[in-house]
Amino acid sequence: MKNYPPINNHDTLQRFVFENTPVRGNLVNLTQTFQQALSQQQLPKGLRSALGELMAASALLAATLKMNGALVLQIQSKGALKLLVVECNTDENESLKMRATAKWSGAVGDEKTLFDLIEHGQFIITLDPKSEDGSQIYQGIVPLEGDSISAILENYMLRSEQIDTKIWLCCDGNSAAGMLIQKMPETMNQVTQHEENIEQDLETLNRVGYLASTVTNDELLNLPTETLLTRLFNEEDVRIFEPTITQFYCSCSLTSVANMLRMLGNEELTSIIEERGSIEVNCDFCNKHYAFDKVDAAQLMVAEATVMTSPKIH
Ligand SMILES: [Zn+2]
Repeated sequence: MKNYPPINNHDTLQRFVFENTPVRGNLVNLTQTFQQALSQQQLPKGLRSALGELMAASALLAATLKMNGALVLQIQSKGALKLLVVECNTDENESLKMRATAKWSGAVGDEKTLFDLIEHGQFIITLDPKSEDGSQIYQGIVPLEGDSISAILENYMLRSEQIDTKIWLCCDGNSAAGMLIQKMPETMNQVTQHEENIEQDLETLNRVGYLASTVTNDELLNLPTETLLTRLFNEEDVRIFEPTITQFYCSCSLTSVANMLRMLGNEELTSIIEERGSIEVNCDFCNKHYAFDKVDAAQLMVAEATVMTSPKIH
């Protein structure tokens, strides 16, 4: 096992594997990442911690994907909670860049939990490879099954992806943390492997899953990664990798806001300008302010007209 200084585990994603088995895991702690992501938003306590858990979950899942791009997790509902959304981007530097926001209606007391506020909930997972080689955006939409965010994700992974996954999540309002244990999906070669191996792999998954389930929220939030892994899996042969940094980052820009406004159409834009004199937009994620006066708005509309009449040239 390579030694890393056990200073703290703040704002890192730590991958590990159980040697000679297809079982792997991730640990994540979001402290600054979490605080910065929500610093511009006044969220009721229950939604703040739910969003923290969803952020931790997105980092854990993004780290299991072999892809650069965006993983977006959303919980939508018709109750007081309208939307929880978290985006986690992986890039060439392998840092995880995250942003998150929530929408709700009416007064939501601090005592309300996420599940008090959900009616007819849906869980939506989007994978956007953001590549130019034509890779498709994938989206899965399932009803919410489970009474915690971790249970929802475990059910989703098993039912939709056929991947046995165990997830632990917590958030104390200042930090969010989580752990994932997963049996790697079989490759074509492994499908033909002996049944006894498959049984052995399942046994490993159940054994380390059981050991992992003894973890407390306090340990997840506060212990340095190596200390935690040693404490949980003392008898197991665990290999850990170089940790990945996590950070808050909002990708909004004048161009992305202008594109979003164009989608409203000329008629809608004209009526906003007539009513208010300008179009003002605040980014839902970072609260950055964008303003379009009459002249800017006219340019948005001219651009739309151009897009619509010009023939496609490739
Ligand atoms: Zn923004």
